[in-house]
Amino acid sequence: MVCSKCLEQLKLPELVNSSNSEINSFSRHKMKIIFLSFAVHVVFLVSVFDIYFTTPVIHGIPEQINSLSTPAKRLVLFVADGMRADTFFRLSKTEAPFLRNIIEKRGTWGVSHTRVPTESRPGHVAVIAGLYEDPSAIMKGWKENPVEFDSVFNRSTYTWAWGSPDILPMFSKACGNRMWIETYSPEDQDFSGGKERGPSWLDEWVYDRFKSFIEYVGRKINKNEEGPDGGHQWGYIQDSGIVFFLHLLASDTAGHIFKPHSREYQENVNMIDSGIRYVVNLVESFYDNDGRTAYVFTSDHGMTDWGSHGAGDDSETQTPLVIWGAGVPQPIAADSHRCDKNKNFPNVNDEQWNLSHLCRNDVWQADIAPLMSTLVGTSIPVNSVGYLRRAYLNFSQKELAEASFMNARQILAQHTRRRFLIEQRQRSWSGGIFDYLPSFYRASKSFPPEEEESRVETIRYLIDKGHYEKAVIAECDELFELALHGLEYHHRYHRPLLLASLSFAFLGWISLLIVAVLHPDTSYSENHQFQGKFLLSRDSIFVLLAAVAWLYLFILHAPLQYYIYCLLPVALWWQVVKLLTDQRKTNTRISWKLLSMKQLLSPTLYVAAYAVGIEILVISFFHRWILSLGMLGLACSSFITNKHNDPNYYSRNAMKILLWSTSCFILGIFPLTPVIGKDVNSMLVMTAGWLFILLGILSTVLLARMRPRSGNLIDSLKRLPHRIWFQLLVLIPLAMWNISKADQSFVDKEGLPLFCQTLTWILSGSSLGLPLLMEHHWHKSNSYMVMNQLMSICLSVAVPFLLLSVNHEGIFLFALALNVHSWVLLETTDQQEFESKKSNVTMDDFRRAYIFIFLIITSFFGTGNVASINSFDPAWVRRFLSIFSPHAMGALILAKTCFPFLIVSCAFRAINLILKVPPKQLFLVVLAFSDAAGLHFLHLVKDKGSWLDIGSSLSHFVILETMVLFLLILYGLSCILIPHKILSISSTSRLSSSSVKVTVNYSDRRKER
Ligand SMILES: [Zn+2]
Ligand SMILES: [Zn+2]
Repeated sequence: MVCSKCLEQLKLPELVNSSNSEINSFSRHKMKIIFLSFAVHVVFLVSVFDIYFTTPVIHGIPEQINSLSTPAKRLVLFVADGMRADTFFRLSKTEAPFLRNIIEKRGTWGVSHTRVPTESRPGHVAVIAGLYEDPSAIMKGWKENPVEFDSVFNRSTYTWAWGSPDILPMFSKACGNRMWIETYSPEDQDFSGGKERGPSWLDEWVYDRFKSFIEYVGRKINKNEEGPDGGHQWGYIQDSGIVFFLHLLASDTAGHIFKPHSREYQENVNMIDSGIRYVVNLVESFYDNDGRTAYVFTSDHGMTDWGSHGAGDDSETQTPLVIWGAGVPQPIAADSHRCDKNKNFPNVNDEQWNLSHLCRNDVWQADIAPLMSTLVGTSIPVNSVGYLRRAYLNFSQKELAEASFMNARQILAQHTRRRFLIEQRQRSWSGGIFDYLPSFYRASKSFPPEEEESRVETIRYLIDKGHYEKAVIAECDELFELALHGLEYHHRYHRPLLLASLSFAFLGWISLLIVAVLHPDTSYSENHQFQGKFLLSRDSIFVLLAAVAWLYLFILHAPLQYYIYCLLPVALWWQVVKLLTDQRKTNTRISWKLLSMKQLLSPTLYVAAYAVGIEILVISFFHRWILSLGMLGLACSSFITNKHNDPNYYSRNAMKILLWSTSCFILGIFPLTPVIGKDVNSMLVMTAGWLFILLGILSTVLLARMRPRSGNLIDSLKRLPHRIWFQLLVLIPLAMWNISKADQSFVDKEGLPLFCQTLTWILSGSSLGLPLLMEHHWHKSNSYMVMNQLMSICLSVAVPFLLLSVNHEGIFLFALALNVHSWVLLETTDQQEFESKKSNVTMDDFRRAYIFIFLIITSFFGTGNVASINSFDPAWVRRFLSIFSPHAMGALILAKTCFPFLIVSCAFRAINLILKVPPKQLFLVVLAFSDAAGLHFLHLVKDKGSWLDIGSSLSHFVILETMVLFLLILYGLSCILIPHKILSISSTSRLSSSSVKVTVNYSDRRKER
């Protein structure tokens, strides 16, 4: 069946017992290192938000009073949550008769372009407050306001709102007693309750409550009641400047469950159409058709074809906007000279809308807020950055000029305030001690402070003289642009400083890691503490540097975290210099000679090769296929790992090299396959299951033969761990049966049977627990046990992973498992390494660390581009959950992402254990590599250009930094799963340089032969 020579080739080196004092010293320092890396990476991760994404909200901006007498006394705002422009505008007259009629005959319409993240909270904040929240505000919490901001509601006379408990409280808190809200309970949003009611129940509730309110107020007015108003504050109902807000959540829910192309989603749009007609009729009859109501219909974000949102796909960022009623012009023809061609907006594919004859007026999402304020005659929210779109206003020339002027002044007030905050902080410090110093403040060149006043006066003069056209087009728009740029300039004022500091910190950290790794005998962390002699020449420079940085930040009145960002590089470089000089002092030199070992390649070439390698990792974030190229490189790498120019190397290891290269080729195919997420293919999931069983049985047989003193095949099979057989013959087949059963039920549209769901959870839980039940009681001291454990971990991860699979990702996991096994076999081939090792870290360790990172990145991008949030599909978890629960779904999807990481981490751990490489040292190399890529990504983060670029550039950096944090955790987990005691009590580590003993027991091996 298997040739004995091949089996001989697969033999692993055997390990023997030896002292374990070094290992203990590792674990003592490991915690310190892990803690320090963790802290440094948290700083790196958080810093990107302070550099690129700080809150746009500032306080103390004066309000610009709206003195226009507008046609509309009141405004009704409808937000259909998760409604995308394409689905909405595509509907024919029969499908959305009311709104379609308005678009074609009565109102003004366009596409409202949102920014990322396309989530409900930022979408609503943009529509209602006119500002784009920074991503960190979103992370701080969805319901609570991290910062208070002004909104259209806050500027209104009074606002009544109905809808979701996730959205309304966000605005009502800042409004104080100017807003009244009514929400359904959070449980009503659950899908479970929606099964018999359907998600449209949420919208019906809103219409219903609105109707009751109007009827209630009508009764009160008819009876001419005075006194308490039941908390509704309905006394304002006849005033001007009031707002009704109806939040319609059902379209979002329907989009998530049924996807936007489904009949259910379209039906929901129908419902929204008839619901809006119903509300409009109620309002009009209540106010006796006085023609003084303006209506706005829009949405907070769109929805992808596969029912998700969050990222920057066109289907997510394009939302409908329809405005009609008092003060809004009738539609104009597309070929009219007044029709703007939306040149400054992203392209919209409107071929199937049948609206090409009408003028489309696109807006940015924040433009809706000043538009609503102007329509209803209230002042614009002070933090708004929206531009007043005049195409939506049926005003006289004078009124248009005044409205645009108000909009420009409102942006200017923000700009002036922000400039004041930066300038004044530096000037007014501490009673004028520093007044004699030159100011550090640099004003914006394009819009110097002295120009602000004169521009306002020019516009006032032009309007007073009746030059409305000129005032608006030439002056107001220009002032708006200048003030907006000035606002941005001051918003990013500290960026160059922070970016430079953080870059130095990154470089310092990478240098520290490399110096610590190359450090010959003392452990890095021992030297890391601020100990040893204070060298005046060396340390005073750093103390001085730190003092200067501190003083500068103090004068700037910088926030606390700026001190960390600016002092971190000083501290890190100080440590680097300390380590280098301390070594010279104690007469131990960094083992530079390691870098110039008798190799085919010179050290410079090595550095260049790794720089290319890191760039491959960086590029792979943008183009997945580059990973296939890297895999091809790895497949060939085994031919250059013949470290000792051993002529017999290839013939001795032909089997392992073949296995490694083949598995690299197979794994290299996956980055070329389409991204997982859209369609379900149960056949491929089942195939993956069979492949795992095959892999398990084959390798189990092989491992049984590899084991020392194996005797005949039957004998060795008998002594195999029972849990592997249990996994192979019970758990995986049972999981496969469950998958086919559940999928059949989905095909029959019967939903998830309770039995299948229970079995899914039981199988996943028991399978993940299995590797912890190690059988220690026999054959402890050989690497066979390590391989055995690795196989067991792969098989147990396979069960939940297959249950979470919808397409070929199960086969990917199989290929990955095959690959890491051949990697472990190949890396642990060369026994000479154990003998000749006298130092810490060799170039081989750098290679291992690189392959580790490469495999981690490959397992991240292998089956999908998860750098984009929206590529996650709820279908992945359909065998686990029958109801919509974002937290549980998120956790399961995170687990699915981490399972391949775990396999790679465990393989890395296995190699370290078998080769007795100090784990800490290797991990430092891993960190150095990933941080080099992180430094590159830090500079690739954008906050300009298309919002897709901004979102993905930010997520690249965040993914990489989070990945490092996860690696720290996962490596710790792999140390639990493959504990050191698996090699029996312990063994010598290579770190104990001078006293390294040859660890391969040759006498034992001879016996086997
Ligand atoms: Zn939403
Ligand atoms: Zn949603």
